[in-house]
Amino acid sequence: MKKIQILTLFIVVLIHFSCKNKDKHNNKTSILTSTKENIDEMHDTNAKSNFGIVIHGGAGTILKKNMTDSLEIAYTQKLEEAIRVGHEILRNGGTAMEAVTKTINIMEDSPLFNAGKGAVFTHEKRNELDASVMDGKTLNAGAVSGVTHIKNPIDLAFLVMTQSEHVMLSGEGAEEFAQLKGFELVEPSYFYTEKRMQSLLKVQERERRKYQNDSGTNATLFANDPYSKDAKFGTVGCAALDKNGNLAAGTSTGGMTNKRWNRIGDAPIIGAGTYANNATCAVSSTGWGEYFIRAMVAHDISAMMEYKGVTLKEAAREVIQEKVPALGGDGGIVAIDKDGNVTMEFNTAGMYRAHMNAEGKLIVGIYGDE
Ligand code: ASP
Repeated sequence: MKKIQILTLFIVVLIHFSCKNKDKHNNKTSILTSTKENIDEMHDTNAKSNFGIVIHGGAGTILKKNMTDSLEIAYTQKLEEAIRVGHEILRNGGTAMEAVTKTINIMEDSPLFNAGKGAVFTHEKRNELDASVMDGKTLNAGAVSGVTHIKNPIDLAFLVMTQSEHVMLSGEGAEEFAQLKGFELVEPSYFYTEKRMQSLLKVQERERRKYQNDSGTNATLFANDPYSKDAKFGTVGCAALDKNGNLAAGTSTGGMTNKRWNRIGDAPIIGAGTYANNATCAVSSTGWGEYFIRAMVAHDISAMMEYKGVTLKEAAREVIQEKVPALGGDGGIVAIDKDGNVTMEFNTAGMYRAHMNAEGKLIVGIYGDE
């Protein structure tokens, strides 16, 4: 009797382990860290896919030597958590737009990124948030800029697209519209994080020193200030293709640290920070907004595909590696085309990014080709 019991136990344990191994085998998820060998895979995936999703959490001077292990893990895990939410929506037949907004919500709610909870401070120590979405099927779009009480600006941008006759609302008016639609407003203190406050104080100290050196005559902000290059990090964005062949993109940000005079960047500008068109691709940008507006980055990539017949990868490379730097700007994009090809192109040291294809293969990256 005892022998039979032991034998049964043995068989149960055997079945358990063989199932576990099978699961492991089926789960194609792989998290890549940046090495010379896999760098291409981390930038581009070309496999045809009937759905897919790609995200960024901002581009900039992100260097491994400045990163602690725990912070690296925190970013990697949050990127993975966010993209899995969108991927699950797409896997279950949800829309690209829903995947984009829900994925961005996760990053907006994290203090790690310069969007929602982790938004940077303005010159006046406020948090002014910008966001936009675009639907590739209808070419409908919605955007908000300079909102200060909206926990998830991407949701308000979606509401502007779906429930107003406008494309972009700003400041108090946007918040009045939000209230009218039953949107929950939060106190500005919700956006306070010590880390962002310290960044602001540092940038302002450098600005003061520069101002003194220029004897107060040449105190221009951003455009000529070499330090402002690093005054932005962590804008979030997402582009997705759903099972019905529809594309969508969205971008959400706190903008640039120490921004002033209600400065608005590229993130809420359709064609610059966000663009989606079922005929071509969906794109979300991150980087020095002034240049991304002037280069109309997201639309230019789509237009190059449409008018010149080039691939997504070729178009993104030309815009990010040639056109934007030629103007003096830096940053990157994530994009997916109508066939599921993905590009994560940037001209900065790093870009927080992740991609998941229909098979569930996951790629997470932070650094560039160092
Ligand atoms: N593009 C954003 C802006 O200029 C900042 C960023 O992406 O980091 O507002």
